[in-house]
Amino acid sequence: MKPHGPIPSGFSADADGMLLIGGRRADDLAKAAGDTPLFVYDGAMLAARVAEWRRAMPAEVQLHYAMKANPYAPLLGRMAGLVDGFDVASGGELAAALASGMSADHISFAGPGKRDRELEAAISAGATINLESAGEADRALAIGARLGVVPRLAVRVNPDFDLKGSGMKMGGGAKPFGVDAVAVPALVGRLLEAGADWRGFHIFAGSQALDAGAIADTQAQTLALAARLAAEIGRTPPLVNLGGGMGVPYFPGDTAVDAVAVGRALGDALAARDRRLADSRFAMELGRWLVAEAGVYLTRVVDRKTSHGETFLVTDGGLHHQLAASGNFGTVIRRNYPIAVANRFGAEPSETVSVVGCLCTPLDRLGDQVALPYADVHDLVVIFQAGAYGATASPSAFLGQGRAQEMLV
Ligand SMILES: *Cc1c(COP(=O)(O)O)cnc(C)c1O
Repeated sequence: MKPHGPIPSGFSADADGMLLIGGRRADDLAKAAGDTPLFVYDGAMLAARVAEWRRAMPAEVQLHYAMKANPYAPLLGRMAGLVDGFDVASGGELAAALASGMSADHISFAGPGKRDRELEAAISAGATINLESAGEADRALAIGARLGVVPRLAVRVNPDFDLKGSGMKMGGGAKPFGVDAVAVPALVGRLLEAGADWRGFHIFAGSQALDAGAIADTQAQTLALAARLAAEIGRTPPLVNLGGGMGVPYFPGDTAVDAVAVGRALGDALAARDRRLADSRFAMELGRWLVAEAGVYLTRVVDRKTSHGETFLVTDGGLHHQLAASGNFGTVIRRNYPIAVANRFGAEPSETVSVVGCLCTPLDRLGDQVALPYADVHDLVVIFQAGAYGATASPSAFLGQGRAQEMLV
């Protein structure tokens, strides 16, 4: 038997043992959707999460949602009313952000390889571009001049440090992201000279960290770097986007980030900040921390079989919707996501099974030798922490099984 990740505490069952999501039975939701597999996102949990963040963080820090975690339109619409801004990473995400009702002056656009038409769309809408290179700055300035629009430009800084313990390092050393810190003052000088509306810095050091101390250290380093750059430039950055990094517990032994500790340390660091940043505004950008826990992935058991003594539950889901849970999205060692039998939620485990998907590849494993209550054909298996990097971060065209249903309740 191998352990699975911790089941998020916000879920419970009704008297029949059926998992409830947003107060509704999992089987009713599957019926309402018409079919499994199905992602369900709980809108009340999204709101509770944002409220938790606001209670924990200093009031002066704004909250941006990094929409690549989950761009499902109804969810975006909900998030637009909860957070202070969206961070997008493509022209497609920009269009979805604008369609959600988020106003362009609260949208920032990061990401390497922005094409001219994407820059043009962002500049003409009035979104802020987080510049990833000097070449991109040249193109943005030229497009602004051609359109007769003063472009809003921030500089994404490739910091000289990374976020310790993070699942994905996005700063420190040679990176395709951002402008090396040493080259930033000259680039900002050029933007100012060209008459651009310089919006400040975007400094994102990493992702999926659970250690509040490591996040706090990174934020302190980020503030120090922003102050040093501001001194060299001789101007106060209007906005310093401090990045994010707050992760969620996916695996056995993982524990939730202590958001209150992150907030307290950030409050102290802001109180002690360099006077060059006295008039700056600050933001954090979070993806998974805001939306992962609010989402579940429901699949139905299609077959139950044994092979060489191992029991397999074969489901109608798989890595084509949940690449991360299969262990094939940026993880080195495959470990089990939180998993349960939705119609026997909370029941004691009675057997060890492997839960696989319906794709014809040995990679397609949603639960490896996990202890679960007995489940048979037609029962529902649920994967938790499915609200981020699920439907859109998985190869849904692979093997022709099609996309999953999605629903916001
Ligand atoms: C992916 C990404 C995020 C979101 O990361 P999470 O781990 O989901 O919080 C934030 N900012 C940038 C620049 C990103 O690329």
